[in-house]
Parts: sequence; C-alpha cells; structure tokens
Amino acid sequence: MNIKKSGEIFERSQKSIPGGVNSPVRAFKSVDRQYPIFIETAKGSRLYDVDGNEYTDCIGSWGPMLLGHNNERVLEAVKKSLDEGTSFGLPTEKEVELAELIKECYPSIDKVRLTTSGTEAAMAAVRLARAYTQKNKIIKFEGCYHGHSDSLMVKAGSGLLTFGHQDSNGITEGVMKDTITLPFGNSEKLIEILDSEEEAACIILEPVPANMGLIIPEEGFLKLLREKCTEKNIVLIFDEVISGFRVSLGGAQELFNITPDLTVLGKIIGGGFPVGAFGGKKEIMDMVAPVGNVYHAGTLSGNPVSVSAGLETINILKENREIYNTLEKRTKELVLRIEELIEKYNIKATVNHIGSLYTIFFSDKKVENLEDAMATDDKAYNTYFSSMLEDGIIVPPSKYEAHFISWAHNNEDFEKLIAGVEKSFIAINQN
Ligand code: PMP
Repeated sequence: MNIKKSGEIFERSQKSIPGGVNSPVRAFKSVDRQYPIFIETAKGSRLYDVDGNEYTDCIGSWGPMLLGHNNERVLEAVKKSLDEGTSFGLPTEKEVELAELIKECYPSIDKVRLTTSGTEAAMAAVRLARAYTQKNKIIKFEGCYHGHSDSLMVKAGSGLLTFGHQDSNGITEGVMKDTITLPFGNSEKLIEILDSEEEAACIILEPVPANMGLIIPEEGFLKLLREKCTEKNIVLIFDEVISGFRVSLGGAQELFNITPDLTVLGKIIGGGFPVGAFGGKKEIMDMVAPVGNVYHAGTLSGNPVSVSAGLETINILKENREIYNTLEKRTKELVLRIEELIEKYNIKATVNHIGSLYTIFFSDKKVENLEDAMATDDKAYNTYFSSMLEDGIIVPPSKYEAHFISWAHNNEDFEKLIAGVEKSFIAINQN
C-alpha cells in the first residue's frame, strides 16, 4: 500500500503541531509504517486517505458516526443550516428542539445544557455536583475516561493508557487529592470507601466503559451505585458520551434501567460536529447560570450547524429504532465469527461486545476492569492492528479503545473484516 503522501504531510505536520496530530490517539504507527494516515474524504463505512487508499472504518470518528459518514439526510440538514448562517452568539429554536428531543429519549433529564465537547460537559457536571452537595470529592473508576479536565485526568483511560500513562502532568496535588479512584465493578471496595468517605460529591462513570477497551458492566453494580448515591446524598453521573444513543436510543440508562442524577452526552448528538451536553434533574440543573451560580458558558455552545446535524441524526434514529436491533444483530454475528476464528487458530483472545461496540482482548481470561485489560497481550494486539491496516481496515490502534460498527457497514465490509481478522491471527501465530 502506497502511503507516501501521508508520510510527507506527517513530516510537515510535526513541525507545526505537537506530535503532528491534534489528538494523541491519531498518532498511530503500525509495524510496517512509522506514521499515521491522513484522511481526505469519507462516505458510508469507508475512509479515503490522501494517497487514494480506501479503508473500511471501524472507529467511526470514535463514536459519532453511528449512521456512517456523510449520511444524506444529515448532510442535507447541515447544508441548509450553513445557508442560514454559521454562528450567532444568540439563541436559536433548533437548540430548544434538540433539548426537547434529548429529554424525550432520556427521561432522567429535565433540563439540559449544550457544550462544544464531552470534556466540557463532564467538567461542568462535576462542578455542578459539588455545588449541589456542597461537598468536594469525586469518585471515578480506573480506566474510565471523561475528557481532559484536571480533576478527571486521574487514572483515566483512552489515549493516556495508550501512551503508557494514567495521569497527566500539570495537575496540582490538591486537585488529584480530591479525586478518589476505584476499580470498576468492585462492589466491596465501593462500599468500603463510601463507609468512610463523607466528602464525596459525585460518582462519575461510563456505565458501559469503552476507554479501557470495552467492559460490560454488571447490572447489580450499576444498581448498587444508584442505591448508595441516594443513601449518601451523592450525585450519580453517567458519562454516556459513547454509550448515549449508541447502545440504545436512551443509552445505557435505558438498557440497564438505572436513573442517574446527571447525564453527560456528546459524539452522536452532534452527528459528526463538535458538541457535548450535560443534563439531569431540574433541581440540580437550575443551579446553572444564569438561573443559579454555577458558571457554565460557551461562545459556540449550541452551534446551529452542530445542532442541525445532531437533530437530524437523532430524528433518523428515533424514526427507525430497528436500526439498533439490526446493528446489534450484525455485530453479534461478526463477533461470533471472530470467536470461531479464535478457536480455529487457537488464539488466546476474548471479545467483549454490546450493541454495535466490541473489543478484542488478547487473553484467554475474562476482561472486567482496567487491571485485566492491562494484563492482555500488547504485542498480539499490535500485530492484529497492523495486519488489519495493511488490509485496508481501520480498527482501534490501541486495545484501550472499542470498535464502532455503523449503520453503513454492509456485507462486503463484514466479509473484508473477517478475512482481515483471519489473516491477522495467522500473523500472530507466526510471531
Ligand atoms: N467521556 C467519554 C466517555 C469519552 O469517550 C470522551 C471522548 N472519547 C469524552 C468524555 C470527552 O469527549 P470530547 O473528546 O468530546 O471532549
């Protein structure tokens, strides 16, 4: 595969952008190439790089592209919105429509505020929880990622893990001390800490963690969190930036029937444009400025183009909820075929999956938390990723991310994927 032009752009890029990329996970190298690919266009399930190579895309911009790239209806809505103007700094009716639509799909949300990213939404939700409870500390789970605000960058997942860190430099000790981290799914440790900790303002989690690879939660654990938060006056925050509108229209809270106090959303609600949201109970949300004194603002919050893309995306999903069943069925079939190959080639691997998300962990043990994920075979994963890339399939470059299947993936993509996985397993056995 010729990727010469990507290499040339990367040379240039490193001189002007740290690491040559605007988000660390994009800086992937494979066994055969020492620089990332630069993308020119996308359509449906495919990406096209600057050298003209075509790829089946299994990362979907890390979640937003549930309908595939450049969905015609979403594109039309965006074009219409562009003609109307791109940013006003004043409210629009569309923002109200999006808020109403989010509320309809998430009954736990009475009021919702739009932001420009998931990071910003999670940061605001935590600030709000502190103000509401008048307590200072945050409880989060090892390997869960909630964006890059200071207090949430402790034992975080995603790109941090990929580059071998769990915290970021530049965060004060005081901030770090206010964040308590626990292993995901460990009820005993949770109860132990809550018995001794009086200062916890919130527990924030990805109800379906997808930033340490995909982890499937136990319903009982989510229930316990709900009970304990109610008992101890702790705000339960579900960060559904990935799981929202992905595992179900109503997110993980609908799937597992658990009602959080606050919800953080992002990705799909912007239909591929920058957006985030935090929302929840009226009594908490009414503490946000200008009603209350918890400050949150944004020049581009509720940007009309982003909102138009999000509205159209959610409307398509709402009109045709079959999309979720079909996606789940297709992904399950794919995972079953991968599992058959695992057996055929005697590979030590296990696949976690839910809805249209999955992660292949190279270990014969169950993977239920960060410790388990870290113990899986990095070399085998890298061989898998590199082999897939050479075959024109973009899968997550790190075992700490999930594969995202979209509505636009067709039989040809699935056959290509399966052939690619088989080839990668042969390569793993040869290594
Ligand atoms: N929360 C979760 C669960 C995420 O996966 C992400 C991003 N991957 C974020 C928050 C941060 O969102 P953003 O990148 O839009 O700031």
